[in-house]
Amino acid sequence: MIKPDAVENGHVGGILDKITSAGFKIVAMKYTQLSKRDAKAFYAVHSERPFFGELVEFMTRGPIVTAIIEKENAVDDFRALIGATNPAEAAEGTIRKLYATSIGENAVHGSDSDENAAIEGDFHFAGREIY
Ligand code: ATP
Ligand code: MG
Repeated sequence: MIKPDAVENGHVGGILDKITSAGFKIVAMKYTQLSKRDAKAFYAVHSERPFFGELVEFMTRGPIVTAIIEKENAVDDFRALIGATNPAEAAEGTIRKLYATSIGENAVHGSDSDENAAIEGDFHFAGREIY
């Protein structure tokens, strides 16, 4: 997902360029907005964390771009491309270093395992929207 902060700040094109230039293939993509229910379900693993309410407010405040992307070693390579959760700790040249503003408003989401990538892909897309 390209999160609401990065969409608001006009970084959709820049982020998609970083992703495709790094060798990822886009197999599904849409411009949409999460409901409260969607965001709570998507980030359910964090429901007990102190920042959960803030995270749900943030993720629902405007449109996002959501996509399924493919590559060899995609999960690890994408997490390397996006950088650390906190942009202050993200490596030079990473998407979060370039485009994120804070640990909460950090421009992009990446799946943390192949298993969760499959679950998250199904959360956002019907089978006929995946190419
Ligand atoms: P994501 O799952 O969005 O790709 P991540 O895997 O790098 O991010 P997680 O630990 O899964 O980080 O946290 C999920 C999201 O919750 C973060 O991307 C960020 O938006 C928010 N978040 C995490 N830690 C904090 C915090 N300490 N304060 C505020 N928001 C936070
Ligand atoms: Mg995560």
